[in-house]
Amino acid sequence: MRALVISDVHGNLNALEAVLEAEGDRYDELWCLGDIVGYGARPNECIDRLRGAASVVIAGNHDLAVLGKVNVERFGGDAGRAARWTREVLGPEQEAWLDTLEPTAAVGRVTLAHASPRDPIWEYVIDGPGAAIALANAPEAKVVLVGHTHVPMSARSVGDRVTGGHAPAGREEILADDVRLLANPGSVGQPRDGDSRASYLVLDIDEGEPVRVEFRRVVYDAAATAKEIVDAGLPPQFGDRLLFGM
Ligand code: ZN
Repeated sequence: MRALVISDVHGNLNALEAVLEAEGDRYDELWCLGDIVGYGARPNECIDRLRGAASVVIAGNHDLAVLGKVNVERFGGDAGRAARWTREVLGPEQEAWLDTLEPTAAVGRVTLAHASPRDPIWEYVIDGPGAAIALANAPEAKVVLVGHTHVPMSARSVGDRVTGGHAPAGREEILADDVRLLANPGSVGQPRDGDSRASYLVLDIDEGEPVRVEFRRVVYDAAATAKEIVDAGLPPQFGDRLLFGM
């Protein structure tokens, strides 16, 4: 079974479509780790695309802020503006669907959380020590999947040693029986590791085979997304930064 794992789409339909097109029909399930909306100009279209295609979707802090379930004041000024804009344009059907999402999920021995198992909405897992805490809070999981930081990451746990960090395109993790993994696919729609390409991972889980994770990137038309953001009257820096992946 291959899961295509994405996160932090943030209303960037061009990036989402580029990822789905790049993978074609070479996956069995699509899983999304939240922050479908916020920053970008196409929230309804991104929701519609995921509603039809994804088998597991969890909510992120931006999704919950747009719904009024967490305080928008916790965002910086412009992120708050984008959240309020999104709230205005969100269609009733799309809002109702977003409202059904929870910030965590489990599929077999895989735990999914937008931010972390300990704090699914706000915590940033950015390094080995953070990954150790995340794995300790999901003791049954072989793989813990998180998003939220917009930086692709993998961290392996063997015994009580956890090592890892930024996962560039092409990084592959093959998990022996005694290895557990924390993995962050990075962001489809607002990558922030200096690589402007949309970021995601594929996860292979097959009976009798070691679990395998591979990090991938795909080029999309970031300039077109930046123009949509300006045209919508959203803060232009949410588009500008897409050109640099920062
Ligand atoms: Zn995000």
